[in-house]
Amino acid sequence: MKWPADYHMHTPLCRHATGEPGEYAARAVAIGLTEIGFSDHSPMPRDDFDNWRMYANQLDEYVAKVRRAQKDFPNLAIRLALEVDYLPGGEDWIRGLAARHPWDYLIGSVHYVSDGWAIDNPQKISEWKNRDAFEVWSAYFERLTKAAETGFFEIIGHVDLPKKFGHRPDRDGTPLYEKFLNAAKKNHCAIELNTAGLRKDCREIYPSRQILELAFQKGVPITFGSDAHAPEEVGMNFAEAIQLAHSVGYQESCQFTQRKRQMVKF
Ligand code: ZN
Ligand code: FE
Ligand code: FE
Ligand code: ZN
Repeated sequence: MKWPADYHMHTPLCRHATGEPGEYAARAVAIGLTEIGFSDHSPMPRDDFDNWRMYANQLDEYVAKVRRAQKDFPNLAIRLALEVDYLPGGEDWIRGLAARHPWDYLIGSVHYVSDGWAIDNPQKISEWKNRDAFEVWSAYFERLTKAAETGFFEIIGHVDLPKKFGHRPDRDGTPLYEKFLNAAKKNHCAIELNTAGLRKDCREIYPSRQILELAFQKGVPITFGSDAHAPEEVGMNFAEAIQLAHSVGYQESCQFTQRKRQMVKF
């Protein structure tokens, strides 16, 4: 069996990750991965938007860090990517980012359901108390659907992120998932199996088996990502993720070079 690529990892430029790209690459080689991709949190038009991403003027430095790792690890395929926050109205900014470097892929993620609240921010967890969980899930999936519809993204990140701290909708979310997955299919977006969920309160891979089964039925392809914020997290729990994917019916995952998709067996 061949390990799938780990397409979701960060760098210290985002201010909440440790270890240089070379250390992530060394870890990947040590555990037998043959392909990884860096997808650090993209900058925002305003550097004071929040405090967990690189500054706009650090984008070239980020690319240089990844290029250095590529040179230092010639036997490991290292892709250059970004995890881009989708917020409605941010389309021009994202289009600009996409044009700045020859990215291998872009992950579109929704963390913000409003300008002031990233639902996965541990410092903002009390916000959940003021809201109805189902309404948050609805608002989140509405944005995620829009993100897919922009056509900017090869991959949609951690699809059911609102479960992170254990806040589950008290009504059936299936229509929300269906609508999003239809948009993903139509716009050629893959979704990722993100193992970071196993390290959070929800103790579950993103997305849930239910969402993954729907995705498989609709023919939405997948990628794998550890969402590593430290070198030792590279490839973490991939055996479990692979088992989940196989049990749902997936045999192949996507790899990307300069935003061109290739299906590879895992
Ligand atoms: Zn992060
Ligand atoms: Fe994220
Ligand atoms: Fe991430
Ligand atoms: Zn992430």
